[in-house]
Amino acid sequence: MCGVGNAIAAKIRSIQRRALASRVRFAYRAPMRHRPVTQNGLQGAVGWLAAGVGLIAVVVITALTSSANNAFGAGLLFVGLLVGGFASIVIHELGHAIAAWLVGWRVWIISALPVVVRLGHKPHFSTKLAHDVGGYVLGSPPTAKLDRPWRSAIFSAGGPIASLLTGPLFIYWLATMPPQNWEDPTKAGLLGVALAFGTYGTLSAAWTAWPARGWGGRPNDAMMIIMALREPKSSDEARGAGWAGALFEFGVEPSAWPEWMRDVVARAGHSPWAQSSAPVLAFMAALDANREADARAAAERSAQEPGKVLRAYVAACLDNDVKAAELALQDAKPTGWNAIDWLRALTEARIFDLRGDSAAAQRARDDLASEIADSGAPQPFWDRLLVDSAQK
Ligand SMILES: [Zn+2]
Repeated sequence: MCGVGNAIAAKIRSIQRRALASRVRFAYRAPMRHRPVTQNGLQGAVGWLAAGVGLIAVVVITALTSSANNAFGAGLLFVGLLVGGFASIVIHELGHAIAAWLVGWRVWIISALPVVVRLGHKPHFSTKLAHDVGGYVLGSPPTAKLDRPWRSAIFSAGGPIASLLTGPLFIYWLATMPPQNWEDPTKAGLLGVALAFGTYGTLSAAWTAWPARGWGGRPNDAMMIIMALREPKSSDEARGAGWAGALFEFGVEPSAWPEWMRDVVARAGHSPWAQSSAPVLAFMAALDANREADARAAAERSAQEPGKVLRAYVAACLDNDVKAAELALQDAKPTGWNAIDWLRALTEARIFDLRGDSAAAQRARDDLASEIADSGAPQPFWDRLLVDSAQK
């Protein structure tokens, strides 16, 4: 009897472990897919400066040593070299977006450095270098049924396919043009523009079309395809919470999440098996819908460091209880999670308000506002909390 009981208990533990492992893997993978990476700004600036000086030198030398016609052709080439890189990033990301639409996924954000466009919102400019070839596309399945590895693989393949078509294949096509075209400066300039564009496309294809990992071990597109197809099957709960976390990280507010993700997060928030992000996401979703009781419940359920910050927020912003808020924050360690840091900043601003130090509260809110603005995507959820916080 006892042996059977132990065997069952061990079996349950192993199922739990497996379920947890696949959840953690998934939650780690989903946000990674589109996470922007900040690169050393100085390094980037020096590179651009060197490239700019070099290009201007080419144009000036060409203009000084030959005819006005030649200078015009060189000018075209100059523009092509400057604009071609951006154009090839746009094409690559549009490839992902078209692939997403083909598999029935919703596209939220298309970004090509430095422009971030969330559909239905004002364009946003970000100084942050993004993952992928210099941009990213945030897409997600509108229903649990459409969340399938092969759809994810096609989504990842769209970018490299676009780059292959506008890179090596485009250059191959250019090479079939009659060679006399290169003898006329204007035509040669236009061909140079096309060639520059094709070269950037080839670089993008080389960067993404075979499996590799970039900065910080982030998988490129081809690696994402392999990972998607090898992904162990996981529950709707795990996948939905992973997706919701990824959307939230890129500024998509809970009220805009597809219904299946909102349902899954609400359910996972109650489950003892769920990873620690589930109650946090449930908390944010409750705040977004002005469901105070649900927010309190999620804060109570949330364990570890994030839970302390959620409870501090409830104490300060819902209960006006400075003492309880400070007590909760006292030993809350950094989590490396933007959402928790920002919620903490709002809590601290509220504590300053309640203590009558409105100048410090304003400073805290201003700092937070600039951090939110610099995050790389529109953040309507946080913008709203910030406005509410200032009006209390
Ligand atoms: Zn890509």
